[in-house]
Amino acid sequence: MTNRLVLLTLGAVSLFLLTRAAHRPEAPAKPRHVILMIGDGMGPSQVSFARNLELEAGERFSFESLPTTALVSTRSNSNPVTDSAAAATALASGSKTNNRHVGVDPHGVALPTLTDLAQRQGWRIGYVTNTAITHATPAAFYAEVENRYTQTDQIALDLLEQGPDVVLGGGWRDFVGPVGFGRRLDGRNLLQEAEDQGYAVWRFRDDLDLAYRGRVLGLFAGNHLPMQLDRDQLPPAVRPPSLTELTRTALSLLKGSEDPFFLMVEGGRIDHAGHDFDAKGVAAELVDFDGVVREVLAFVDEHPDTLVLLTADHATGGLATNDFAHWDEFDDQKASVEWVTLGIRDTEDPVDTAYVREMLGYSGFTDELVERVRREASSYEAKRILGRELGFHQGISWIHDVDPFNTGGHTGEDVALYAIGPGAERFQGVLDNTEIPTLLVDLLGWPPLPGPARGLGAGTYAN
Ligand SMILES: [Zn+2]
Repeated sequence: MTNRLVLLTLGAVSLFLLTRAAHRPEAPAKPRHVILMIGDGMGPSQVSFARNLELEAGERFSFESLPTTALVSTRSNSNPVTDSAAAATALASGSKTNNRHVGVDPHGVALPTLTDLAQRQGWRIGYVTNTAITHATPAAFYAEVENRYTQTDQIALDLLEQGPDVVLGGGWRDFVGPVGFGRRLDGRNLLQEAEDQGYAVWRFRDDLDLAYRGRVLGLFAGNHLPMQLDRDQLPPAVRPPSLTELTRTALSLLKGSEDPFFLMVEGGRIDHAGHDFDAKGVAAELVDFDGVVREVLAFVDEHPDTLVLLTADHATGGLATNDFAHWDEFDDQKASVEWVTLGIRDTEDPVDTAYVREMLGYSGFTDELVERVRREASSYEAKRILGRELGFHQGISWIHDVDPFNTGGHTGEDVALYAIGPGAERFQGVLDNTEIPTLLVDLLGWPPLPGPARGLGAGTYAN
Protein backbone atom coordinates (compact mmCIF):
# COMPACT_ATOMS: atom_id res chain seq x y z
CA MET A 1 0.00 0.00 0.00
CA THR A 2 1.36 3.44 -0.86
CA ASN A 3 1.71 6.10 1.81
CA ARG A 4 -0.93 8.16 0.11
CA LEU A 5 -3.39 5.32 0.27
CA VAL A 6 -2.58 4.71 3.94
CA LEU A 7 -3.24 8.37 4.69
CA LEU A 8 -6.48 8.30 2.77
CA THR A 9 -7.61 5.19 4.63
CA LEU A 10 -6.65 6.65 8.01
CA GLY A 11 -8.50 9.82 7.11
CA ALA A 12 -11.61 7.90 6.19
CA VAL A 13 -11.44 5.86 9.39
CA SER A 14 -11.05 8.91 11.63
CA LEU A 15 -13.84 10.71 9.80
CA PHE A 16 -16.01 7.66 10.39
CA LEU A 17 -15.05 7.61 14.09
CA LEU A 18 -15.71 11.35 14.44
CA THR A 19 -19.10 11.04 12.80
CA ARG A 20 -19.96 8.12 15.03
CA ALA A 21 -18.83 10.01 18.13
CA ALA A 22 -20.87 13.05 17.13
CA HIS A 23 -24.03 10.97 16.89
CA ARG A 24 -23.52 9.10 20.13
CA PRO A 25 -24.89 10.63 23.31
CA GLU A 26 -21.99 11.76 25.48
CA ALA A 27 -21.19 9.40 28.38
CA PRO A 28 -20.70 11.27 31.67
CA ALA A 29 -17.99 10.46 34.23
CA LYS A 30 -20.51 9.09 36.68
CA PRO A 31 -23.11 6.48 35.79
CA ARG A 32 -26.75 7.44 36.05
CA HIS A 33 -27.90 3.83 35.96
CA VAL A 34 -26.15 0.73 37.27
CA ILE A 35 -26.93 -2.81 36.16
CA LEU A 36 -25.22 -5.53 38.18
CA MET A 37 -25.44 -8.91 36.50
CA ILE A 38 -24.57 -12.02 38.49
CA GLY A 39 -24.09 -15.40 36.87
CA ASP A 40 -24.60 -17.81 39.75
CA GLY A 41 -22.03 -20.59 39.49
CA MET A 42 -20.54 -19.00 36.38
CA GLY A 43 -16.85 -19.68 36.91
CA PRO A 44 -14.21 -19.45 34.19
CA SER A 45 -14.42 -23.16 33.40
CA GLN A 46 -18.20 -22.91 32.95
CA VAL A 47 -17.70 -20.03 30.51
CA SER A 48 -15.03 -21.78 28.44
CA PHE A 49 -16.92 -25.08 28.40
CA ALA A 50 -20.11 -23.37 27.20
CA ARG A 51 -18.17 -21.44 24.56
CA ASN A 52 -16.60 -24.66 23.24
CA LEU A 53 -19.91 -26.52 23.21
CA GLU A 54 -22.26 -23.84 21.93
CA LEU A 55 -20.27 -21.39 19.79
CA GLU A 56 -18.29 -21.74 16.60
CA ALA A 57 -14.50 -21.82 16.96
CA GLY A 58 -13.30 -18.24 17.33
CA GLU A 59 -16.69 -16.90 18.48
CA ARG A 60 -17.16 -15.35 21.89
CA PHE A 61 -20.04 -14.52 24.16
CA SER A 62 -21.28 -10.92 24.11
CA PHE A 63 -20.13 -10.30 27.66
CA GLU A 64 -16.62 -11.28 26.60
CA SER A 65 -16.55 -8.22 24.34
CA LEU A 66 -16.91 -5.79 27.23
CA PRO A 67 -13.91 -3.44 27.40
CA THR A 68 -12.90 -3.91 31.04
CA THR A 69 -12.23 -7.15 32.87
CA ALA A 70 -10.97 -8.18 36.28
CA LEU A 71 -10.43 -11.32 38.33
CA VAL A 72 -12.42 -11.54 41.52
CA SER A 73 -11.54 -13.56 44.63
CA THR A 74 -14.57 -14.92 46.41
CA ARG A 75 -13.79 -16.67 49.70
CA SER A 76 -16.25 -16.14 52.51
CA ASN A 77 -15.47 -15.45 56.14
CA SER A 78 -16.21 -19.01 57.16
CA ASN A 79 -14.75 -20.97 54.27
CA PRO A 80 -12.28 -20.59 51.37
CA VAL A 81 -15.17 -21.82 49.24
CA THR A 82 -18.09 -19.44 49.42
CA ASP A 83 -21.74 -20.15 48.92
CA SER A 84 -24.14 -17.84 47.11
CA ALA A 85 -25.38 -16.28 50.34
CA ALA A 86 -21.98 -15.08 51.57
CA ALA A 87 -20.85 -14.12 48.06
CA ALA A 88 -23.99 -12.12 47.31
CA THR A 89 -23.73 -10.47 50.71
CA ALA A 90 -20.17 -9.43 49.78
CA LEU A 91 -21.36 -8.07 46.41
CA ALA A 92 -24.30 -6.26 48.03
CA SER A 93 -22.69 -4.89 51.16
CA GLY A 94 -18.92 -5.00 50.71
CA SER A 95 -18.55 -7.20 53.79
CA LYS A 96 -17.46 -10.79 54.24
CA THR A 97 -19.79 -13.06 56.11
CA ASN A 98 -20.28 -16.74 56.83
CA ASN A 99 -21.76 -19.17 54.34
CA ARG A 100 -25.57 -19.31 54.57
CA HIS A 101 -25.75 -15.77 55.96
CA VAL A 102 -27.82 -13.35 53.92
CA GLY A 103 -27.28 -9.63 54.41
CA VAL A 104 -25.90 -10.04 57.93
CA ASP A 105 -22.34 -10.07 59.24
CA PRO A 106 -20.84 -13.15 60.96
CA HIS A 107 -22.45 -12.05 64.24
CA GLY A 108 -25.87 -11.88 62.61
CA VAL A 109 -25.96 -8.07 62.55
CA ALA A 110 -27.71 -6.53 59.54
CA LEU A 111 -25.51 -4.94 56.86
CA PRO A 112 -26.54 -1.95 54.76
CA THR A 113 -26.50 -2.79 51.05
CA LEU A 114 -26.04 -1.07 47.72
CA THR A 115 -29.78 -1.00 47.16
CA ASP A 116 -30.44 0.43 50.64
CA LEU A 117 -28.02 3.25 49.77
CA ALA A 118 -29.48 3.64 46.29
CA GLN A 119 -32.98 4.09 47.71
CA ARG A 120 -31.73 6.74 50.12
CA GLN A 121 -30.16 8.57 47.16
CA GLY A 122 -33.52 8.63 45.42
CA TRP A 123 -32.64 5.89 42.93
CA ARG A 124 -35.21 3.34 41.88
CA ILE A 125 -34.20 -0.28 42.46
CA GLY A 126 -35.09 -3.57 40.82
CA TYR A 127 -34.33 -7.27 41.02
CA VAL A 128 -34.66 -9.80 38.22
CA THR A 129 -33.83 -13.49 38.53
CA ASN A 130 -34.83 -16.84 37.08
CA THR A 131 -34.70 -18.42 40.55
CA ALA A 132 -37.07 -17.88 43.43
CA ILE A 133 -36.75 -14.22 44.42
CA THR A 134 -36.14 -15.45 48.00
CA HIS A 135 -33.03 -17.33 46.80
CA ALA A 136 -29.72 -16.24 48.30
CA THR A 137 -28.40 -14.00 45.52
CA PRO A 138 -31.26 -11.49 45.24
CA ALA A 139 -32.06 -11.86 48.95
CA ALA A 140 -28.63 -10.58 50.03
CA PHE A 141 -29.58 -7.16 48.64
CA TYR A 142 -32.72 -6.75 50.73
CA ALA A 143 -32.98 -9.41 53.46
CA GLU A 144 -31.27 -10.01 56.77
CA VAL A 145 -31.26 -13.64 57.93
CA GLU A 146 -28.67 -16.05 59.24
CA ASN A 147 -29.94 -19.12 57.40
CA ARG A 148 -30.82 -18.85 53.72
CA TYR A 149 -32.48 -22.28 53.71
CA THR A 150 -34.77 -22.20 56.74
CA GLN A 151 -35.78 -18.52 56.70
CA THR A 152 -37.20 -17.95 53.23
CA ASP A 153 -40.52 -16.90 54.86
CA GLN A 154 -38.66 -14.07 56.60
CA ILE A 155 -36.80 -13.22 53.38
CA ALA A 156 -40.16 -12.65 51.64
CA LEU A 157 -41.20 -10.30 54.45
CA ASP A 158 -37.90 -8.44 54.16
CA LEU A 159 -38.50 -7.93 50.43
CA LEU A 160 -41.77 -6.09 51.04
CA GLU A 161 -40.17 -4.15 53.85
CA GLN A 162 -37.43 -2.83 51.58
CA GLY A 163 -40.04 -2.12 48.90
CA PRO A 164 -38.09 -2.26 45.63
CA ASP A 165 -39.73 -0.74 42.56
CA VAL A 166 -39.45 -3.79 40.31
CA VAL A 167 -39.22 -7.44 41.31
CA LEU A 168 -39.42 -10.12 38.60
CA GLY A 169 -38.62 -13.78 39.19
CA GLY A 170 -40.03 -16.95 40.71
CA GLY A 171 -40.84 -18.08 44.23
CA TRP A 172 -44.43 -17.17 45.05
CA ARG A 173 -44.68 -20.17 47.38
CA ASP A 174 -42.86 -18.14 50.06
CA PHE A 175 -45.51 -15.40 49.80
CA VAL A 176 -48.70 -17.40 50.38
CA GLY A 177 -49.92 -20.10 52.75
CA PRO A 178 -50.75 -23.75 52.03
CA VAL A 179 -54.27 -22.83 50.90
CA GLY A 180 -52.71 -20.85 48.06
CA PHE A 181 -50.32 -23.76 47.29
CA GLY A 182 -47.62 -21.91 49.17
CA ARG A 183 -45.61 -22.73 52.26
CA ARG A 184 -46.07 -19.77 54.59
CA LEU A 185 -47.26 -20.93 57.99
CA ASP A 186 -48.03 -17.52 59.52
CA GLY A 187 -51.40 -17.13 57.84
CA ARG A 188 -50.29 -14.09 55.84
CA ASN A 189 -50.78 -13.55 52.13
CA LEU A 190 -47.90 -11.36 51.04
CA LEU A 191 -49.16 -11.11 47.47
CA GLN A 192 -52.31 -9.47 48.85
CA GLU A 193 -50.21 -7.31 51.17
CA ALA A 194 -48.05 -6.25 48.23
CA GLU A 195 -51.17 -5.21 46.33
CA ASP A 196 -52.32 -3.26 49.38
CA GLN A 197 -48.93 -1.51 49.32
CA GLY A 198 -49.56 -0.44 45.74
CA TYR A 199 -47.74 -3.16 43.81
CA ALA A 200 -49.14 -4.63 40.65
CA VAL A 201 -48.80 -8.37 41.27
CA TRP A 202 -48.03 -10.31 38.10
CA ARG A 203 -48.20 -14.10 37.91
CA PHE A 204 -48.26 -14.95 34.20
CA ARG A 205 -46.34 -14.15 31.07
CA ASP A 206 -49.38 -12.30 29.71
CA ASP A 207 -49.19 -9.90 32.66
CA LEU A 208 -45.89 -8.42 31.42
CA ASP A 209 -46.71 -4.85 30.47
CA LEU A 210 -43.98 -2.67 29.00
CA ALA A 211 -46.20 0.40 29.25
CA TYR A 212 -46.92 0.03 32.97
CA ARG A 213 -45.21 2.62 35.16
CA GLY A 214 -46.02 1.62 38.75
CA ARG A 215 -44.28 -0.74 41.15
CA VAL A 216 -44.38 -4.41 40.18
CA LEU A 217 -44.01 -7.69 42.04
CA GLY A 218 -43.95 -10.35 39.33
CA LEU A 219 -43.56 -13.96 40.50
CA PHE A 220 -44.02 -16.42 37.67
CA ALA A 221 -43.36 -19.78 39.36
CA GLY A 222 -43.86 -21.34 42.76
CA ASN A 223 -40.13 -21.90 43.02
CA HIS A 224 -37.51 -21.39 40.27
CA LEU A 225 -38.33 -20.65 36.64
CA PRO A 226 -37.65 -23.66 34.38
CA MET A 227 -34.20 -24.39 33.10
CA GLN A 228 -33.52 -23.28 29.56
CA LEU A 229 -33.37 -26.85 28.21
CA ASP A 230 -36.86 -27.51 29.57
CA ARG A 231 -38.80 -24.40 28.61
CA ASP A 232 -40.03 -25.96 25.38
CA GLN A 233 -41.38 -29.04 27.17
CA LEU A 234 -43.97 -26.79 28.82
CA PRO A 235 -47.19 -26.01 26.93
CA PRO A 236 -47.05 -22.37 25.73
CA ALA A 237 -50.06 -21.47 27.90
CA VAL A 238 -48.15 -22.19 31.12
CA ARG A 239 -44.65 -21.28 29.94
CA PRO A 240 -43.28 -18.54 32.20
CA PRO A 241 -41.41 -15.57 30.72
CA SER A 242 -37.72 -15.97 29.93
CA LEU A 243 -34.99 -14.13 31.82
CA THR A 244 -34.48 -11.93 28.75
CA GLU A 245 -38.17 -10.98 28.70
CA LEU A 246 -38.08 -10.22 32.42
CA THR A 247 -34.99 -8.04 32.01
CA ARG A 248 -36.48 -6.17 29.05
CA THR A 249 -39.61 -5.52 31.12
CA ALA A 250 -37.61 -4.39 34.16
CA LEU A 251 -35.57 -1.95 32.08
CA SER A 252 -38.73 -0.58 30.52
CA LEU A 253 -40.39 -0.14 33.93
CA LEU A 254 -37.32 1.49 35.47
CA LYS A 255 -36.41 3.83 32.65
CA GLY A 256 -39.96 5.17 32.59
CA SER A 257 -39.10 7.43 35.49
CA GLU A 258 -36.73 10.41 35.52
CA ASP A 259 -34.90 8.88 38.49
CA PRO A 260 -31.67 6.93 38.11
CA PHE A 261 -31.89 3.22 38.86
CA PHE A 262 -29.94 0.23 40.15
CA LEU A 263 -30.93 -3.13 38.68
CA MET A 264 -29.62 -6.53 39.76
CA VAL A 265 -30.09 -9.31 37.21
CA GLU A 266 -29.23 -12.86 38.19
CA GLY A 267 -28.73 -15.83 35.88
CA GLY A 268 -29.36 -18.16 38.77
CA ARG A 269 -29.70 -21.55 37.20
CA ILE A 270 -26.16 -21.99 35.87
CA ASP A 271 -25.32 -22.97 39.44
CA HIS A 272 -28.17 -25.47 39.70
CA ALA A 273 -27.12 -27.27 36.52
CA GLY A 274 -23.58 -27.38 37.95
CA HIS A 275 -24.82 -28.97 41.16
CA ASP A 276 -26.66 -31.57 39.08
CA PHE A 277 -23.51 -32.41 37.05
CA ASP A 278 -25.48 -31.32 34.00
CA ALA A 279 -22.89 -29.87 31.62
CA LYS A 280 -25.28 -29.27 28.75
CA GLY A 281 -27.61 -27.57 31.22
CA VAL A 282 -24.75 -25.29 32.33
CA ALA A 283 -24.02 -24.35 28.72
CA ALA A 284 -27.70 -23.72 27.90
CA GLU A 285 -28.11 -21.45 30.93
CA LEU A 286 -24.96 -19.53 29.99
CA VAL A 287 -26.11 -19.04 26.41
CA ASP A 288 -29.42 -17.77 27.77
CA PHE A 289 -27.66 -15.39 30.17
CA ASP A 290 -25.63 -14.06 27.26
CA GLY A 291 -28.91 -13.30 25.51
CA VAL A 292 -29.84 -11.22 28.54
CA VAL A 293 -26.49 -9.45 28.20
CA ARG A 294 -27.36 -8.54 24.59
CA GLU A 295 -30.66 -7.10 25.81
CA VAL A 296 -28.78 -5.05 28.42
CA LEU A 297 -26.17 -3.88 25.88
CA ALA A 298 -28.95 -2.69 23.56
CA PHE A 299 -30.16 -0.56 26.48
CA VAL A 300 -26.59 0.70 27.05
CA ASP A 301 -26.39 1.73 23.39
CA GLU A 302 -29.30 4.10 23.96
CA HIS A 303 -28.26 5.03 27.50
CA PRO A 304 -24.45 5.29 27.59
CA ASP A 305 -24.74 6.74 31.09
CA THR A 306 -25.29 3.15 32.26
CA LEU A 307 -22.58 1.18 34.05
CA VAL A 308 -22.86 -2.58 33.60
CA LEU A 309 -20.91 -4.91 35.85
CA LEU A 310 -21.16 -8.64 35.20
CA THR A 311 -19.60 -11.17 37.54
CA ALA A 312 -20.21 -14.49 39.31
CA ASP A 313 -20.56 -15.42 42.95
CA HIS A 314 -18.46 -18.59 42.59
CA ALA A 315 -17.99 -21.57 40.30
CA THR A 316 -19.99 -24.76 40.74
CA GLY A 317 -19.35 -28.45 40.30
CA GLY A 318 -15.66 -28.41 39.51
CA LEU A 319 -16.51 -28.90 35.84
CA ALA A 320 -13.39 -29.60 33.81
CA THR A 321 -13.17 -29.77 30.05
CA ASN A 322 -10.98 -32.73 29.18
CA ASP A 323 -9.59 -33.94 25.93
CA PHE A 324 -11.77 -37.02 26.40
CA ALA A 325 -15.02 -35.07 26.28
CA HIS A 326 -17.40 -36.57 23.74
CA TRP A 327 -18.59 -33.36 22.13
CA ASP A 328 -21.10 -34.91 19.75
CA GLU A 329 -22.85 -36.78 22.57
CA PHE A 330 -24.35 -33.53 23.86
CA ASP A 331 -26.57 -33.17 20.78
CA ASP A 332 -28.75 -36.03 21.98
CA GLN A 333 -29.57 -34.54 25.40
CA LYS A 334 -33.06 -33.01 25.16
CA ALA A 335 -33.84 -32.03 28.75
CA SER A 336 -32.07 -31.11 31.94
CA VAL A 337 -31.05 -33.65 34.56
CA GLU A 338 -33.43 -31.82 36.90
CA TRP A 339 -36.42 -32.22 34.57
CA VAL A 340 -35.83 -35.92 34.03
CA THR A 341 -35.22 -36.57 37.72
CA LEU A 342 -38.48 -34.85 38.66
CA GLY A 343 -40.23 -36.91 35.99
CA ILE A 344 -38.90 -40.14 37.52
CA ARG A 345 -39.81 -39.16 41.06
CA ASP A 346 -43.20 -37.57 40.43
CA THR A 347 -44.91 -40.64 39.05
CA GLU A 348 -46.19 -43.83 40.60
CA ASP A 349 -45.87 -45.63 37.29
CA PRO A 350 -43.17 -48.25 36.85
CA VAL A 351 -39.85 -46.64 36.04
CA ASP A 352 -39.68 -45.72 32.37
CA THR A 353 -36.02 -46.17 31.58
CA ALA A 354 -36.69 -45.64 27.88
CA TYR A 355 -37.90 -42.10 28.66
CA VAL A 356 -34.75 -41.35 30.65
CA ARG A 357 -32.55 -42.68 27.85
CA GLU A 358 -34.45 -40.67 25.25
CA MET A 359 -34.44 -37.36 27.13
CA LEU A 360 -30.82 -37.51 28.27
CA GLY A 361 -29.55 -39.04 25.06
CA TYR A 362 -27.74 -41.98 26.60
CA SER A 363 -28.80 -45.56 26.05
CA GLY A 364 -26.63 -46.86 28.90
CA PHE A 365 -29.00 -45.94 31.75
CA THR A 366 -30.12 -49.12 33.49
CA ASP A 367 -33.43 -49.88 35.25
CA GLU A 368 -31.48 -50.28 38.50
CA LEU A 369 -29.96 -46.82 38.29
CA VAL A 370 -33.27 -45.20 37.44
CA GLU A 371 -34.93 -47.04 40.33
CA ARG A 372 -32.18 -45.75 42.63
CA VAL A 373 -32.92 -42.20 41.48
CA ARG A 374 -36.57 -42.76 42.32
CA ARG A 375 -35.96 -44.17 45.79
CA GLU A 376 -33.22 -41.77 46.89
CA ALA A 377 -34.46 -39.84 49.93
CA SER A 378 -32.80 -36.57 48.96
CA SER A 379 -34.04 -35.04 45.71
CA TYR A 380 -30.74 -33.18 45.51
CA GLU A 381 -28.75 -36.41 45.58
CA ALA A 382 -31.22 -38.07 43.21
CA LYS A 383 -30.34 -35.55 40.50
CA ARG A 384 -26.68 -36.13 41.08
CA ILE A 385 -26.98 -39.91 40.69
CA LEU A 386 -28.31 -39.30 37.20
CA GLY A 387 -25.93 -36.43 36.44
CA ARG A 388 -22.89 -38.36 37.59
CA GLU A 389 -23.66 -41.21 35.20
CA LEU A 390 -24.37 -38.78 32.36
CA GLY A 391 -21.08 -36.99 33.04
CA PHE A 392 -19.12 -40.24 32.74
CA HIS A 393 -20.82 -40.89 29.43
CA GLN A 394 -20.21 -37.37 28.12
CA GLY A 395 -16.58 -37.43 29.27
CA ILE A 396 -16.89 -34.37 31.50
CA SER A 397 -15.29 -34.48 34.93
CA TRP A 398 -16.92 -33.06 38.02
CA ILE A 399 -16.01 -33.12 41.67
CA HIS A 400 -18.04 -36.09 42.76
CA ASP A 401 -16.82 -36.25 46.30
CA VAL A 402 -18.68 -33.36 47.86
CA ASP A 403 -20.06 -32.66 51.28
CA PRO A 404 -23.76 -31.93 50.86
CA PHE A 405 -23.74 -30.13 54.21
CA ASN A 406 -21.03 -27.75 53.06
CA THR A 407 -21.43 -25.67 49.93
CA GLY A 408 -22.41 -28.88 48.14
CA GLY A 409 -20.06 -28.60 45.20
CA HIS A 410 -18.91 -25.03 44.77
CA THR A 411 -15.26 -24.38 44.02
CA GLY A 412 -12.99 -21.60 45.16
CA GLU A 413 -11.26 -20.32 42.02
CA ASP A 414 -11.39 -16.62 41.17
CA VAL A 415 -14.22 -15.60 38.87
CA ALA A 416 -14.18 -12.99 36.14
CA LEU A 417 -15.74 -9.54 36.06
CA TYR A 418 -16.70 -7.79 32.81
CA ALA A 419 -17.64 -4.11 32.72
CA ILE A 420 -18.72 -1.32 30.41
CA GLY A 421 -19.86 2.24 30.99
CA PRO A 422 -18.85 5.32 32.98
CA GLY A 423 -16.31 4.33 35.65
CA ALA A 424 -15.90 0.79 34.29
CA GLU A 425 -12.13 1.29 34.14
CA ARG A 426 -12.03 1.37 37.94
CA PHE A 427 -12.92 -2.31 38.03
CA GLN A 428 -9.63 -3.82 36.85
CA GLY A 429 -6.88 -6.12 38.05
CA VAL A 430 -7.41 -8.64 40.82
CA LEU A 431 -10.24 -7.55 43.09
CA ASP A 432 -11.92 -9.11 46.06
CA ASN A 433 -15.69 -9.47 45.74
CA THR A 434 -16.10 -7.03 48.66
CA GLU A 435 -14.31 -4.34 46.63
CA ILE A 436 -16.95 -4.28 43.89
CA PRO A 437 -19.62 -2.45 45.92
CA THR A 438 -17.09 -0.27 47.73
CA LEU A 439 -15.56 0.87 44.42
CA LEU A 440 -19.05 1.50 43.08
CA VAL A 441 -20.14 3.55 46.08
CA ASP A 442 -16.92 5.55 45.81
CA LEU A 443 -17.52 6.15 42.10
CA LEU A 444 -21.07 7.34 42.77
CA GLY A 445 -20.00 9.53 45.70
CA TRP A 446 -22.40 7.82 48.10
CA PRO A 447 -21.71 7.45 51.84
CA PRO A 448 -19.37 4.48 52.31
CA LEU A 449 -20.47 0.93 53.12
CA PRO A 450 -18.98 -0.66 56.28
CA GLY A 451 -16.34 -2.37 54.13
CA PRO A 452 -14.65 -5.75 54.18
CA ALA A 453 -13.11 -5.45 57.65
CA ARG A 454 -16.56 -5.67 59.19
CA GLY A 455 -16.83 -9.38 58.51
CA LEU A 456 -13.26 -10.62 58.41
CA GLY A 457 -11.90 -12.55 61.32
CA ALA A 458 -15.18 -12.81 63.17
CA GLY A 459 -16.94 -16.14 63.36
CA THR A 460 -15.28 -19.45 62.78
CA TYR A 461 -13.06 -20.70 59.99
CA ALA A 462 -15.30 -23.67 59.34
CA ASN A 463 -18.55 -23.86 57.53
ZN1 LIG B 1 -24.84 -23.35 44.44
